[in-house]
Amino acid sequence: MILSIFLAGTMILGGQPGSNLLVPLPAALLAGLSAVTSLIAYMWAPQKYLHALAFGNYLLLGATVGVLISLTGEVYSPYLVLWMLLTIFAGLFNTMGLAIAFIAVNAALIYNFLFDPLPVTRDYLIIFLLALETPIAVSYIIWHEKGAQDKNKTQAFDALAKQLSQVANKSEIVINAIADGVVAIDSEGQIQLINPAAQKLLGWSKHDALNLDYRSVLKLSDASGHELTNESSPIQQVLLFNKPITNNNLTLTTRSNKKLLLSLVVSPVGDVAPASGAIAVFRDITSEKEEERQKAEFISTASHEMRTPVAAIEGYLGLALNPNTAAIDDKARAYLMKAHESTQHLGRLFQDLLTVSRAEDGRLIPKPTVIDIVAFMREITDGLAPKAQGKGLFLYFKPGSDGATDGPHTVTPVFYSLLDQGHLREISNNLVDNAIKYTKQGNVTVDVTGDDSNVVISVNDTGIGIPPEDAPHLFQKFYRIDNSDTREIGGTGLGLFICRRLAEANNGKIWVESTYGKGSTFSVQFPRITHEKAAELLKGEQQASTVPQPGLPIQQPKPAALQSTSESQAL
Ligand code: ATP
Ligand code: MG
Repeated sequence: MILSIFLAGTMILGGQPGSNLLVPLPAALLAGLSAVTSLIAYMWAPQKYLHALAFGNYLLLGATVGVLISLTGEVYSPYLVLWMLLTIFAGLFNTMGLAIAFIAVNAALIYNFLFDPLPVTRDYLIIFLLALETPIAVSYIIWHEKGAQDKNKTQAFDALAKQLSQVANKSEIVINAIADGVVAIDSEGQIQLINPAAQKLLGWSKHDALNLDYRSVLKLSDASGHELTNESSPIQQVLLFNKPITNNNLTLTTRSNKKLLLSLVVSPVGDVAPASGAIAVFRDITSEKEEERQKAEFISTASHEMRTPVAAIEGYLGLALNPNTAAIDDKARAYLMKAHESTQHLGRLFQDLLTVSRAEDGRLIPKPTVIDIVAFMREITDGLAPKAQGKGLFLYFKPGSDGATDGPHTVTPVFYSLLDQGHLREISNNLVDNAIKYTKQGNVTVDVTGDDSNVVISVNDTGIGIPPEDAPHLFQKFYRIDNSDTREIGGTGLGLFICRRLAEANNGKIWVESTYGKGSTFSVQFPRITHEKAAELLKGEQQASTVPQPGLPIQQPKPAALQSTSESQAL
């Protein structure tokens, strides 16, 4: 454009008297036209036409300079330098620009050769070669090299773009193929992605849901039917704290007001809190929950119904074995004793199944009373002592036996806790029973320790121990360690699961520390209450007429062996 303006200006100046630059009118008109079109291209042309327009302008400029040269003395024209410059830039328009420059120059040569307006002399050819052909070669070298580099860059860019679009396509295919609902939410809480499964589940089309606030699409309520507030919403929590959340107890209200039970996993996007987005993955578990409920109901009814006749069989077998009520020979006694043991085992199994089904459907509600844990555990340990002795094991009860004294008296610590007696009995019986069961030789030690706020019951043994890879699964339903040590020992794998659920129902927790081959320590911890609080509660319970003295057992649990059926049913 600058060149065009210069030429147009030169024409005006050239028209002035005294100017030695002679610009003919056609050239000046072409230059003016070129200046105007360049200006239009520069100011208004859309990006996609820019290259074509620039090429057009360039041709106009070429024609201008060509006219200038031909009208002012051909190869001896003072404008030949301009033409050389122009030719060098011809390579900017790739081979097309070069070809046009080449054709124009050689056409001039052929024209001169054929029609002889300028004789093609030796000087003419030298000037022709230096001034007209060489710049084309130079242009080719400069721009071809640059073009190759640009081409490489463009190719690399295209390859990257292709790769990215392939990745995007693949992710979209995967997300769309997932049977679970997937919704991506940005930091503002707006929906940015919703897969077909989510659209089907929620009743919202992609078109309607995109860019909407997630609260109007994912309407969630808790297990008791209360709609989740902004603060309690798992999605809001994830956006705020950048931590994943899983919840299997939510209800979703669909667009058509249908209620579905939902399993929801929300994961944050980004590394720091607050998260830059959240991905919610969810599925309808209404039928799963219903199946689970029916299964639990079946087990519960079946165990309940079968337990009664089994208790009767156990009772009659007991009578048959009692010399005061029946006279049987030794052979029959041996058979009946085996039958009695098996029936007892069956009775325990039904009881366990009943407890499990209660734990599953939320009917495991504790009836807390004040318990002196040390006294209670002493009774439990005493009750199981015969079983330990029968296996040749030493069963120790540790509290107060570690030498702590107050003058001539041994100090026994006192820990009160507010727990369901039946639940605590079940837990401690299971733990001590396991310790005896899984110890071949050595001893089992029961201890009660604690601090101001907690009390810990621990059962230590010198038994077979637990392989580290099994430890995290021990408290799951029906989990049994299957190795050469345990294969011979019978069991259902329900004891520790029940212990965990009962401990949790009483605000406690249970854990294990073990060295495989050396022994294990199972511990269960409950919140402790002060002596004053215990006394006050006992008064309220009207279970004691006087305020209990520290050190004296408040509740006197019966030995485990003597528990009545009605108590175990109360679980
Ligand atoms: P049951 O339901 O009759 O109690 P169980 O004893 O097999 O059957 P859990 O009490 O739940 O079931 O124990 C689960 C598993 O944990 C056991 O099978 C056993 O392998 C392992 N286990 C439990 N207590 C101990 C222990 N004190 N020492 C070593 N292994 C143990
Ligand atoms: Mg057990």
